[in-house]
Amino acid sequence: MSAPSLKEFQQQVSELLLRHRSLLDVVTKYSQSNASVNRAIAKAITECGCIELNARHQGFSEDMPLDQAKKQSKSHMEGHLCENCEDIVRSELGKNIFYMAALCNLLDIGMDEVVAKEADKCATLGFFNMT
Ligand SMILES: [Zn+2]
Repeated sequence: MSAPSLKEFQQQVSELLLRHRSLLDVVTKYSQSNASVNRAIAKAITECGCIELNARHQGFSEDMPLDQAKKQSKSHMEGHLCENCEDIVRSELGKNIFYMAALCNLLDIGMDEVVAKEADKCATLGFFNMT
């Protein structure tokens, strides 16, 4: 299974999306699919239990050196997604990116440009400026 380019994927989505041509439909489906990603992760924690959440303050301070901040930065997650939960999360992420592609199509935005610009921003701004 080889992944299509972002451009090819957008074209594929464009050909499939006959029912959801309305910007309002696409925007709300995009939002709903994002909530489904979060819900799948929450269920992995509360129903399956393959991952646990143990969140607390990161303990960063203004004058902390970058290497120390990186060292003590925590994901607040313990464990790994089991095969079943990973399949579900992957599927929900797929639906989410489908609607992102549909949104980009309606607004005439290339996903490849979005990714390229964001990658440039990551390279320029660095660790602390990502929000
Ligand atoms: Zn699981």
